[in-house]
Amino acid sequence: MIANADAIMPITHRPQTVFVSGEGSYLIDQDGERYLDFIQGWAVNTLGHCNKQLVAAIRQQAGQLIHAGPGFYNQPMLDLAALLSANSLFDHVFFANSGAEANEGAIKLARKWGQLHKDGAHKIITFVDGFHGRTLATMSASGKTGWNGLFEPKTPGFVKVPYNDLSATMDAIDSDTVAIMLELIQGEAGVIPATEQFLQNLQSLKQRHNLLLIVDEVQTGIARTGKLFCYQHYDIEPDIMTLGKGLGGGMPISALLAKQAASCFASGEQGGTFNGNPLATAAGQAVLSAVLAPGFIHEINRLSQILTTELTRLADKHQLGEVRGKGLLLALNTGSYHADAVVEEAMRNRLLLNAPRPHTLRFMPALNIKADEIQQMLTVLDQIFTHLRD
Ligand SMILES: *Cc1c(COP(=O)(O)O)cnc(C)c1O
Repeated sequence: MIANADAIMPITHRPQTVFVSGEGSYLIDQDGERYLDFIQGWAVNTLGHCNKQLVAAIRQQAGQLIHAGPGFYNQPMLDLAALLSANSLFDHVFFANSGAEANEGAIKLARKWGQLHKDGAHKIITFVDGFHGRTLATMSASGKTGWNGLFEPKTPGFVKVPYNDLSATMDAIDSDTVAIMLELIQGEAGVIPATEQFLQNLQSLKQRHNLLLIVDEVQTGIARTGKLFCYQHYDIEPDIMTLGKGLGGGMPISALLAKQAASCFASGEQGGTFNGNPLATAAGQAVLSAVLAPGFIHEINRLSQILTTELTRLADKHQLGEVRGKGLLLALNTGSYHADAVVEEAMRNRLLLNAPRPHTLRFMPALNIKADEIQQMLTVLDQIFTHLRD
């Protein structure tokens, strides 16, 4: 039994170990065991554990200014907002603390825009199996099947349609519809990409019906998919984007970004005590600078190709299913093998993997993982499938 574990609210099953430190692609527990980490805090540790540049930026900022309050400018907040805006098609940035909070902001912004510009239209079309967070409104926007009937009543105003289904989306649009909100790759659903055609059609629908397009890039943003933002893979022009997970490289920070025309909060309508605090924004600045350094994103795509090719080879060898995803957000269908059994066996072999679905493994390593660490993971995974088969 882990000491003091009974003081923790039991909201999930956790392995019987305590992690005490981290180093690049490795997480180290209280017994000094080193685990090769392909979860990285849930696609959060963009630069791996305790990256030197990131740690230096946090240390420096902690000694200078940790928090001044949301009613004042601070330098890292200004600089990170400018950097995000300069590298995207969005004009304004609002910082928050979690993906769910950024998405709440996106929902509020869309409703405000509907009040100002679309006769009070407020309904937002979202997608089956989509995931937008765990607050009441973002749970209501999400399409996780297990959540039906949970914490009722849900927040009204969300119409859910099947992902990649154009005619269902068209049928769902009426005069009360203000926005379409989606993940470009459904992460928690098991790394399910939107098709290029579907996104193209959403872009046309948005123009025809005067709707806002909201992309939830909490998981796909900050180069996770091999471009700085996932929307840049497609010929689409979202009005609103949310970021979270990888933005702070492990520090809790998220962001709501909007084009000028959609950025319609009046003074006092949006805020939050910790939002834009210099410690978190300095971390975001360090992460973004590293990701924007020449060659960094190119290397993500090279590593992605290696991982994709080798996973496909493994799938052929062990008669597994498809490999899907982009960049370093990849999934492997485990075929007849239970993904949870693979995850447990991997943990015993000091490898941390994630199974978002009963037959899906998800790979979300540090974006600066080394090629030999990928090979190491593949060797262990190969052994696990051989062992599970026998
Ligand atoms: C993780 C995630 C969220 C929620 O972020 P939190 O920081 O856990 O609130 C929202 N949307 C997507 C796509 C996510 O992957």
